[in-house]
Formats: sequence, C-alpha cells, structure tokens
Amino acid sequence: MSTLGIETEVQRQLLDRRGRLENAIQQNGNEVQLRGLLEQVDAALDRINQGTYGICETCHDTIEQDRLERNPLIRYCLDHLTAPERQALQDDLDLALRIQQNLLPNREFRAAGWEAYYHYEPLGPVSGDYCDLVAEDDKSIFFLLGDAAGKGVAASLLMSQLHAIFRTLMALRLTPGQLLERANRLFCEFMLPGHYATVICGRADDSGKIEIANAGHCLPLVLRNGQNITIQNSTFPLGLFCESEYATTTLQLGKDEGLLLYSDGLLEANNSSGDEYGEERLQRLFMNCNGRTPKELIENCLEDLRKFQLGQARKDDLTVLSILRTAAAGAASARVA
Ligand SMILES: [Zn+2]
Repeated sequence: MSTLGIETEVQRQLLDRRGRLENAIQQNGNEVQLRGLLEQVDAALDRINQGTYGICETCHDTIEQDRLERNPLIRYCLDHLTAPERQALQDDLDLALRIQQNLLPNREFRAAGWEAYYHYEPLGPVSGDYCDLVAEDDKSIFFLLGDAAGKGVAASLLMSQLHAIFRTLMALRLTPGQLLERANRLFCEFMLPGHYATVICGRADDSGKIEIANAGHCLPLVLRNGQNITIQNSTFPLGLFCESEYATTTLQLGKDEGLLLYSDGLLEANNSSGDEYGEERLQRLFMNCNGRTPKELIENCLEDLRKFQLGQARKDDLTVLSILRTAAAGAASARVA
C-alpha cells in the first residue's frame, strides 16, 4: 500500500474513533478524559493533513510502523518516549515475557517412547519463535516449532495467538497437514494482512512412526546415524494464501533416531566474515550422534554455533528442538512425564 493509501486508512479509522468519542461524550459523565482523547484524535488528523503524521516530534525521524499501527495517536519514536511512557512500555514488555514463558512446554519432555529437549533464546526481551510439545495420550506426542514474521513484542503476540490456535486444533486429532490447513485458514481470516508465520508440526507415536508437515519453515533434519537427511516437503507459510494445502510426510524411526527442528536464527547466524552457519555444517555436526540424549545434541549444536560465530552478535531469535526415540523399534512405551 502506498503511504497515501495507509494514511487514508488511518484517517478513516481516526474519524470513526472521533464519532464514537463524540457519542460517548454526549452520554457519559467522564468528560475530561474523553475530551482529552478527542483532542489527541484531532491532533493526529491535523498531522495527516499537514504531512507530519508518523514523524517523531523530537528527532523528526519516522516513528516505528508497527507501533503506529497499534496506536495511531503516538507522537514520538521509541528513543524519545517520556519517562512514564517508557516505564509503561517496560511494564508491558515484562508482562509479555511472563505470558510467553508460561506458554513454553517443559524443557525436558518424555512420553510415548520419545524424549525431547529444546533451547529457546529470544533476541530481545521476547521472541517471535514458537515451540510446543504435547503428550496427546500414552500413545503419541505432538511437536511444533514456528517463527512469526518480525521480532519483538508484535511477533511475540502473534506467537501467543499461534499457540492458542494450535492448542485448540490439536484436540481434533487431525493429521499434521490438515492441522496446518485449518490453522492457515484461521490465520488468513483473523490476522492482520502482512502477518505470517512459518510452522513445522508433527505427531510421533509409540510405534516409532512420525507424521510431519511444514508450512515454509526451515527443513527438519532426520537424525539417523551416518545417514542424516532433511525432509524436503515444505509449502507456504501460514497467512500467505488462504487455500494452501499441506502434505503430511510419514517416516519410521528406530531407537536413538530422531529429529532436529530449528528456527532460521540457527542457519542464518553469521560469523565475522559474514558467512552463514548453514545446513551443511549442521548436517556434518550430527553425522555421528548415536547414544547422545536430546539435551546433549542441543548442547553440541549451541557449542558449535558459538565456535562458528566467535562472539559475533546474534540478529534473530533462536530455537532448536530435538526429539529422539528412546524405545526399541515397534516397542510401545506408556511412560508420560
Ligand atoms: Zn525520535
């Protein structure tokens, strides 16, 4: 959308709010606060007319677009908030962090003959990455890893919505592909345009069977001693096309075999020469990983990433999840922890 188009849309929203405020002022006793809001709405409309809308009144730089979308009345960029505004933002961030941490599964997870471990590291106070592990019953687990477009609070809120959508859909016992189709339709209908997320999800059952489907996320690595492969099957991220179809891939894993899932913060991590960590290095690292626990695999991976980066700062959220079959081939395990 052109700048002009966006401003016309903002103007329409502001005029709508203005109408509501005037109604409320006529009906409501709390006039002082409402009149204050009305003045702010009129000031924003004036700024649109004068061509200064979205420009910080202190530094005259552009105000962050995602903040303006959420609150069209703001007048200052993040760097030039007043002390109370800054405090309010910090409080919101703390709350967002608490919400997000409550959404994460147990770090050490064990059910249905599978063991899992993950590392979840936001770049800032909160992450746009999404990770979930659920024991559906004694017989299967469901795993998910996703990455909401963008970073920071906006992406983390999108991540919480993904969590709610998937936790709800999971009860329907769909195949991973069907689950992504449903989630994608919900996403397309209810999210703001331009918001999308890559997600990979799957079910692992107590016979060693894995079903997996991928909506535009980094390709998962199948860990089989000496013959690691990536599952190539991947379609569009959620939120791009309402009618996307997602195929489910099935594979059979034996004892000590498993999966490594990760967000692009891993493969796209740079060293000081600007090279990316990349899939090849990851494949080599996991060539001989027999006998290691999911926790050890994740630790090896993080250690190798640090060695590669040599102190180079990260630029993205990072999530790595490892799921390993602990029961012998075909053996059922009813242990749920
Ligand atoms: Zn500023």
